[in-house]
Amino acid sequence: MMKPNQTLWEIRQQQQTDGLAAEEIHAYYRKRIEQWNDQLGAFVHEHGQDEKAGLPIAYKDIFCMEGVETTCASRMLQGFVPPYTATVVARLQQAGFSSLGMLNMDEFAMGSSNEHSIYGPCRNPWNTDRVAGGSSGGSAAAVAAGLTPVALGTDTGGSIRQPAAFCGVTGIKPTYGRASRYGIVAYASSLDQAGVLARTAQDCAWVLEQMCGHDPRDSTSLDEPVPAWSEQLDTSMEGVKIGVVRQWQSEAVEEGVRETVVGALRVLKDLGAELVEVDLPELEWSIPAYYVIASAECSSNLSRYDGVRYGYRCESPRDLQDLYSRSRSEGFGEEVKRRILLGTFALSAGYYDAYYRKAQQVRRRIHDAFRRVFRQVDILAGPTTPTTAFAIGSVKDPVTMYQEDINTVAVNLAGLPGMSIPCGFSDGMPVGLQLVAPHLQEQRLLAAGHQYQLQTDWHLQMPEWLEATA
Ligand code: GLN
Repeated sequence: MMKPNQTLWEIRQQQQTDGLAAEEIHAYYRKRIEQWNDQLGAFVHEHGQDEKAGLPIAYKDIFCMEGVETTCASRMLQGFVPPYTATVVARLQQAGFSSLGMLNMDEFAMGSSNEHSIYGPCRNPWNTDRVAGGSSGGSAAAVAAGLTPVALGTDTGGSIRQPAAFCGVTGIKPTYGRASRYGIVAYASSLDQAGVLARTAQDCAWVLEQMCGHDPRDSTSLDEPVPAWSEQLDTSMEGVKIGVVRQWQSEAVEEGVRETVVGALRVLKDLGAELVEVDLPELEWSIPAYYVIASAECSSNLSRYDGVRYGYRCESPRDLQDLYSRSRSEGFGEEVKRRILLGTFALSAGYYDAYYRKAQQVRRRIHDAFRRVFRQVDILAGPTTPTTAFAIGSVKDPVTMYQEDINTVAVNLAGLPGMSIPCGFSDGMPVGLQLVAPHLQEQRLLAAGHQYQLQTDWHLQMPEWLEATA
């Protein structure tokens, strides 16, 4: 018997013990997608049943799969059918996964609410008037609603952790370089990293270990062995030093979120962890540094969409200039254009030193600051987001939207692994606890998450209206 909050771990066990067939599992999720997706907008394309069913998974619409449309939720890429498969997807196929479909996102992964999408917003399963978070909103909502047990997302500045927090699921981005970027549509290449959203840290661990590892086709891929994370979850929290970051509890953090996170930290303390307050004043500069660097890289990465080689092309251009300019104006949405303009400006002659170079210097300072505190503590902790999921349409000013990422972007600037785990509710909406570890120390996060989830059941909760399966 399948249930909507089934973990992948349980599914795999049932396959072994009760001979549960992959076709049956896929049929179950397809039925749920058919039943609930219209109200959520999590899936944007469903994948056919023609291929052999395997373990169920769904992908953010940014992962290329040979012969399958990938749009990045942009008019620019509508109809784009990649001739190759992303390395992480190929590895998961090898491990026995088959795709249920592609998931909604902010266009080109730029955003924190999944409102910037040609498919319309993805809605939060806990309250459909609220956003699911972004940019991997579809991935978080689909897992929260039980439309798939696991989903892949990408995290450039918080796009896995923030929607995971908003929808009440577990999400991890590994160390920069752990997961190959080959075949993932690029936003800001020095920050982009793929990761997993699932109900449990245990599921995240197992999926992550299937997809990570060195890839010669990504020049920034790390040539490091991938530990069997899912087999290293039973470590005690006794004596683990958790640094509670003062800057992650700024005035921007709502009272209900703060209290919920304090409660979660108490659970970790009861498990034997030692809590110490740590100060990282450098984090104050994370948002401006991130938005300069991410926009600069975006302006360069997105220059390839010229209406000639692939992507959207405008109708009857007058000349080459008109073709470039109208194809880009019509093909990109407002937020993407804003980033391209910001980035082009930050990189332009005369401003490069003032913005781009300065932002790189700040990035180095943030990286060094994390190194410094990790001499004293094993893990850093705090709220993933300053607020719970906000109402769709309520954040109109881009700078206010960028502030949403206040606790997540520094982790990407430093290339560290980061995770968000569900730790309770504030006014009926889920709250996420963010845990961050030094480079390559994912197992600290996964083990802490697993130990926490053995004590709590926030990660298993489902919105009541989604419990039924037709
Ligand atoms: N909200 C951030 C941005 O818009 C992060 C997005 C992401 O991680 N892809 O850039």
